[in-house]
Amino acid sequence: MIRLRFAPSPNGRLHLGHAYSALVSADFADRLGGELALRIEDIDPVRSRPELISAIEADLAWLEIGFSGPVRHQSRHLSAYRDAVETLGARGLAYPCFCSRAAVISAAGPEPARDPDGSPLYPGTCRSLASAERQSRLAAGGAHGWRLDMGRALGVAPGPHRFRCLDTACIETSHPADPARWGDALIARRDVPTSYHLSVVVDDAVQAISHVVRGADLLAATDLHILLQALLGLDSPAYHHHPLILDADGMKLAKSRGSESLGDLREQGITPTEIRRRLGFG
Ligand code: GLU
Repeated sequence: MIRLRFAPSPNGRLHLGHAYSALVSADFADRLGGELALRIEDIDPVRSRPELISAIEADLAWLEIGFSGPVRHQSRHLSAYRDAVETLGARGLAYPCFCSRAAVISAAGPEPARDPDGSPLYPGTCRSLASAERQSRLAAGGAHGWRLDMGRALGVAPGPHRFRCLDTACIETSHPADPARWGDALIARRDVPTSYHLSVVVDDAVQAISHVVRGADLLAATDLHILLQALLGLDSPAYHHHPLILDADGMKLAKSRGSESLGDLREQGITPTEIRRRLGFG
C-alpha cells in the first residue's frame, strides 16, 4: 500500500512554500499510484489555533488537492506519544530533563557544538543526575521534558544508519544517516508530552506512510527519525526532500518574514490554476 502525507503545522496561514510541498506530495502520490493523507501537526498549545486549521483545510480545498482517509490531528493523540516516550524511558534510552531552555544555553557555554537546527547540543546535565535525585525531583512534580540518551541509543542501534531516498524520477537510492549530530535530542517538551521529531515518527507509522515527501529543510531531521524508528521497532518510509521555494532575497518563505499567504493571493484574485503554474505544475 503506497501512502504519502502532507503535514502542515497550524502556526500560521499556508504560503506558496506549503502549496508547493502539498503539490509535490500529490504529484508523487499520483505517479506512485498511492494515496495522500492529511495530518495536522498541532502539538504546540500556544501557536496552533483552530481557526488556522480551518483556514488550512479551506486553502487546500481551494487548490483542489484531495486527501484520503481521516485527517489525523496530533493534539488528539498525545497518549500515543507519551507511550512511546515511556517505552524509551523504561529501556533506559531516554531520561527526564529538568533544564529550561535558558539553562541549556547557559550550561552549553559560549561556543557550543550545535545540532543541525543551530541549537546548542545538550551538555548532558540531567543525564548524569543521580537516580535518587531524579526520583525526588519527579516526585516533587518538577517540570521536565524527556531527552534521548544518544550514547545508549546508539549502543542498542549502532547502525550504520541509512535511509531510502526517492529522487524526482521515483528511483530509490540509499542515503547515509548520522543521528549522533542531534546529541541528546528533546523528544518530549516540558509543555507537551512530545516533540516534532517523536510525533512525526509515531504518526508516520500509525498512518502507514510508505513515502515521506517534505522540504529540504528537514533532511537532517531524517537522521534522527531513522534512529527513533529503529529504537521503536517501526518501519522506515522512503524519503524525498524537495527544494524550498525562496523569496526574492533567497530566504525560505515564512509568515514572520511577511511572505504572502495563499489567502492574500486569493484575495488579489489569483486563481488556483495560476498558483499551480507559478509553482511549475500545469
Ligand atoms: N509540520 C512540518 C512543517 O509544517 C512538516 C513535518 C514533516 O513533513 O515531517 O514544516
